[in-house]
Amino acid sequence: MRNADGQSSVYRIELLAHQVVTAVLDLIFPPHCVNCERVGNLLCPRCLATITQAPARAVPGLDGVVVRANFEGAISTAIHAFKYDRQTRLREPLGALLCQTLRAAAWVVDVVMPVPLHTTRLHERGYNQAALLARYVAQDFDWQYVPNAIERVRDTASQVHLDAQERRENVAGAFAANPRMVCGRRVLLVDDVLTTGSTLSACADALREAGAICIYGATVAGAGYSKEADGGVPGTPA
Ligand SMILES: [Zn+2]
Repeated sequence: MRNADGQSSVYRIELLAHQVVTAVLDLIFPPHCVNCERVGNLLCPRCLATITQAPARAVPGLDGVVVRANFEGAISTAIHAFKYDRQTRLREPLGALLCQTLRAAAWVVDVVMPVPLHTTRLHERGYNQAALLARYVAQDFDWQYVPNAIERVRDTASQVHLDAQERRENVAGAFAANPRMVCGRRVLLVDDVLTTGSTLSACADALREAGAICIYGATVAGAGYSKEADGGVPGTPA
């Protein structure tokens, strides 16, 4: 059952149960900072204080994009752990950072969704880190979370070894959006890292085609194109 803001009551009970279990586990196994290993937080106040605000970015096809942090130092360590080391609880500090920037943007949003992860990556990783962040944001703002509104309609090569132009060509037309979920709505797309913006652009094209009236993007970190930002050491999937 769904209430007016689109969150199911089952989800709210699950969330509460999860918060209780987490609080108990934190007492038994106190969390360590992923960057400096101090005990107490997954991302400690000292490391959070080193995070620098990323400059504004314009991405073709989107009505606005906010990026919370420059991809460096503590934030790059945290995102790497979040994506590749199954540290999914980092959605809380990283999601909170994203929410700070979204509050400043003050956008009016109807539905929130993640940039879909490549199916192969999803099977390897077992979770889409962008979906964890999108759900966190939706919960915080009481916006409706629609995880499956965009899907990949064709496979794309890994972006890691491609330059900006190759990336645009690689993902052009790779996505389709469900008009029933997005038509006439203001959409927020969420991802962990913004590099060239080619994937965000391709998703925005699909959303526009399906009738979305306004498309925003939000990412935790942003970098100029670099293999490091994509976790792109050879042999590591993007
Ligand atoms: Zn720390």
